[in-house]
Amino acid sequence: MSTPNSVKGTITSNTHITKDVSHITIKPEQRLEFTPGQFTMITINTPETKSRPYSIASAPWEEELSFCVKKVEGGTVSTELYNAQPGTTLTLSTPLGVFTIPEHTEAEHYAFIATGTGIAPFRSMIRTLFPQAFKGRGHNTQKKITLLFGARTKEDLLYKEEFEHLQREAENFTYYATLSREKKEGFLQGHVQEHLHLITQPENTLIFICGLTPMVRETKKALLNKGIPPTNIHTELYG
Ligand SMILES: Cc1cc2nc3c(=O)[nH]c(=O)nc-3n(C[C@H](O)[C@H](O)[C@H](O)COP(=O)(O)OP(=O)(O)OC[C@H]3O[C@@H](n4cnc5c(N)ncnc54)[C@H](O)[C@@H]3O)c2cc1C
Repeated sequence: MSTPNSVKGTITSNTHITKDVSHITIKPEQRLEFTPGQFTMITINTPETKSRPYSIASAPWEEELSFCVKKVEGGTVSTELYNAQPGTTLTLSTPLGVFTIPEHTEAEHYAFIATGTGIAPFRSMIRTLFPQAFKGRGHNTQKKITLLFGARTKEDLLYKEEFEHLQREAENFTYYATLSREKKEGFLQGHVQEHLHLITQPENTLIFICGLTPMVRETKKALLNKGIPPTNIHTELYG
């Protein structure tokens, strides 16, 4: 069967999980095959019909797709998505992108570094690597997985309960959250770039970084300065 270039989908829920970020679930008319880490071009079917790329935040084993969208100041599509009501129809392109875990890798450790909605592709990867923890099919990975996530305040930590739950369930998953604009007991302080020492065994680690360009560039530079081979570092820039 050939893969369609796009499918129609309907928003089934839109939850404002922080003051400017929405968790949106979409039921596609046809199953959309994708590899965790990929994005799809979302087009809202308004007269202006503009599209933007959004990383898929759910795992392939889930029936509905989910997305994590930040309402950008003055942003066209992100504002429409943030305000969209259940029942809204949209178009999703065939999943795109190569920000995925290589199929054949001997790495024993994956480290995911994100800020803001850069967490979306990692939520998809993590739910795929640990399906049992989320009532999905399949076995949890035996590899060591580290998530280093940065936000301004505790309220901006996306999917905090979900990652804390996973940390309790899986001893090979470690979750670090760092806050750049407030001090809170139990959380790291500062930007993700200041905590790269937490990513141990770097010689055997694949490191994935996702978020806005300055964070991704600075983090990659710091990792290269630590002697991590460039082939072990994968990046996705949101703009
Ligand atoms: C591969 C890829 C995956 C992405 N996945 C996600 C995702 O999962 N979740 C998500 O929220 N976003 C994601 N983005 C960003 C998204 O595609 C849009 O750029 C963003 O939602 C803004 O679109 P807009 O139409 O609202 O803004 P526009 O109308 O295009 O721009 C309005 C203003 O906002 C600025 N701007 C554009 N993008 C951003 C941004 N990301 N942050 C801050 N300011 C910005 C522009 O410079 C402009 O000044 C992804 C981008 C890429 C390239």
